[in-house]
Amino acid sequence: LSTWSAVPAGPPDPILGITEAFKADKDPRRINLGVGAYRDEDGKPYVLNAVKKAEERISAAKLDKEYLPITGLPGFTSNAAKLAYGADSVPRNQNAIAVTQSISGTGALRIGGAFLARHYPHSKTIYVPSPTWGNHIPLFKDSGLEVKYYRYFDKKTVGLDFEGLKEDLQNAPEGSIVLLHACAHNPTGVDPTQSQWKDISDFVAEKKLFPFFDMAYQGFASGSTDRDAFAVRYFVSQGHQIALSQSFAKNMGLYGERVGAFSLTTANEEERKRVDSQLKIIVRPMYSNPPLHGAHIANTILSDPELYQEWEGEVKGMADRIINMRERLYQLLSNDFRTPGEWSHVKSQIGMFSFTGLNKEQCKVLAEKAHIYMTMDGRISMAGLNGRNIEYFAKSVDAAVR
Ligand code: PLP
Repeated sequence: LSTWSAVPAGPPDPILGITEAFKADKDPRRINLGVGAYRDEDGKPYVLNAVKKAEERISAAKLDKEYLPITGLPGFTSNAAKLAYGADSVPRNQNAIAVTQSISGTGALRIGGAFLARHYPHSKTIYVPSPTWGNHIPLFKDSGLEVKYYRYFDKKTVGLDFEGLKEDLQNAPEGSIVLLHACAHNPTGVDPTQSQWKDISDFVAEKKLFPFFDMAYQGFASGSTDRDAFAVRYFVSQGHQIALSQSFAKNMGLYGERVGAFSLTTANEEERKRVDSQLKIIVRPMYSNPPLHGAHIANTILSDPELYQEWEGEVKGMADRIINMRERLYQLLSNDFRTPGEWSHVKSQIGMFSFTGLNKEQCKVLAEKAHIYMTMDGRISMAGLNGRNIEYFAKSVDAAVR
């Protein structure tokens, strides 16, 4: 008998499974709206010019391949914190932000989960929005936290269930951890307004909840890295101590390079040093130290004014293309085809994804009859749409809902 004969087959990953089905479909009209990676107007992956130029500089500099420190490339972590918290952030200027490089956003969340499970004194429960990015749940469970939910999405309005969110967070035990999507909520594309963020900050403070921000899309949502960092910076300005996960997968298109950062704001430099030492103790037995190349790319861009400016333009270009696709899809459904239902949420949602409101049956029909692949919750990646396929997509949605 084999040692592994009792290992049961697990279910396929719900999102990566869609890419498999898409690849197997040879119809020329096929569209993959499952995966959350940017595609250009030709439906192709896009390597940013700022990234290409940074790579040329790195190659010309003939750097060595020595190990990075446990918490990563110091210039990179410092610039990543500056990007998120802002140049004039108080804890940043007090040297009170503990930050480590991470294996993209997922790795940052995982370090954060492990740190909170080990050192957060008040609770081992993290409240995540319902719904949330599917990986949050196993990720925090595997980190040693208990996962609970707060209401977030209102199916009726296809918008934010602010009252539900407020009630659930106000009823959470004092000291609980709460996971907040900093911008471009995945999968719904629905974000609180700035005034709602201010209310959330108030009742998070009242209930002494600990805010853990997941910022996977800074700049990608609105086109402005400052605007998308509003919630994070506002909470810090109100005196919250926060945890923050950052990813450079989407905003620099560095998906497979795995570039990210995890940070905690602390009371002062002395406390920051103690926290830093514990971050090292968490990272060292996990993967020893992070990869080199992607951090150099991101740091080259973040530290050079000319490349930084080019990058900002390219982030805005990606965000604007997506915003245009939203406008066009809304026009097609609501004006051209007069598709039954209310479609303004397609326009008002933000970031990579749109929660269309299509049900499981309709999603299945779209895959089987129209060769259009999306997650069964009706989420589409707006980046998969372009000038050539958007009409076919809208027409297929129209047929599926009639
Ligand atoms: N958090 C959210 C909300 C995401 O949507 C994603 C990616 O889709 C991530 C984190 C992590 O992505 P990565 O590990 O590629 O940075």
